[in-house]
Amino acid sequence: MLLRLKSDLNPRDLAELVQSCELLGFETRTVETDQALLELRPKEGVTAGPEVRSRLEDHFAVAAIVGGLGAHELHQRSAERAETVVRVGDAVFGGGSAVLIAGPCAVETEELLREVAVKVRAAGATLLRGGVCKPRSSPYSFQGLGLPGLELLGRVGREVGLATVTEVLEPGDVEPMVGLCDMFQIGSRNMANTPLLREVAKSGVPVLLKRGMSATAREFLLAAEYLLAGGNANVVLCERGIRGFDKATRNVLDVGTVAYLKQVTHLPVIVDPSHACGRADLVRPLAKSGIAVGADGLIIEVHSDPAHALSDAEQAILPEEFAAIADDTRRLLALDGRRLSEPSSSPLSKAPTAI
Ligand code: PEP
Ligand code: MN
Repeated sequence: MLLRLKSDLNPRDLAELVQSCELLGFETRTVETDQALLELRPKEGVTAGPEVRSRLEDHFAVAAIVGGLGAHELHQRSAERAETVVRVGDAVFGGGSAVLIAGPCAVETEELLREVAVKVRAAGATLLRGGVCKPRSSPYSFQGLGLPGLELLGRVGREVGLATVTEVLEPGDVEPMVGLCDMFQIGSRNMANTPLLREVAKSGVPVLLKRGMSATAREFLLAAEYLLAGGNANVVLCERGIRGFDKATRNVLDVGTVAYLKQVTHLPVIVDPSHACGRADLVRPLAKSGIAVGADGLIIEVHSDPAHALSDAEQAILPEEFAAIADDTRRLLALDGRRLSEPSSSPLSKAPTAI
């Protein structure tokens, strides 16, 4: 294993690093190239776990770890390990199958939720989204319906034939929410909330982990590592845009990192074009870009009356627009030899049995 060193190191810093490596059980050798590199070899009987990798990565003198440590983090893709396939109801993420998740930003009324659910299912969605505990930027904005909203989401999901996904905000909410939804969402603002990650890991419920709005790919993967290390293997990553300097779009959809994640982790990765752009008119092109770079699905905010949505109204699209995205998605996936995970025959569309 090689450590790439920071460019402005003085001999004292280097000596300190060498000493730290020796204490961790490694022999060291400086490698002469155009970059400053330090080669590490584990001493007899030393095994380097993920903790060692983290400690080296955090060392002030280290710019990056180059190559493997011999030790394996649980999220890492390798030749021996098959891609993780996460199944939630009819939704199959990964292994050549992609998923469409759709629904309003927040659960509002039963009528609205049912109308959207029926339409997005008919278009090809297999998971119904809807927030009941909303992490709003302002304390004066609609905060969600709470547990009664979750019961409503579950009921509509069951009636329409869609599994449900909703955001969990606090560790103490995890247990009461188990059994009331099929997948937990950990939102961007909570990606690095380690008590929440640990609690959701323990629940065993599949997780949609959103990237923090200013998190690096490595930080994102380490948040996923908390879930995996805590015993929850059903983790789906979601790129939802990172903070940029330009106000033309709400965030910047980082498709480069989607492609990168697909190379370095076996976990499924999906894209949220709605929060990435924050504008209904840009959701469709961004959705296409996500599938084109290899995403295993999309999560999209859909509302039957976007102008009056109680949350994220500017980015909500109509069910008809969602149907056009579903068609794009099927076509793009076919180009790639992949397929959309479709809803099974609908409980609503089943013809009544003739007597
Ligand atoms: C959401 O899905 O409505 C949401 C709040 O997403 P994010 O955490 O990505 O902002
Ligand atoms: Mn939203």
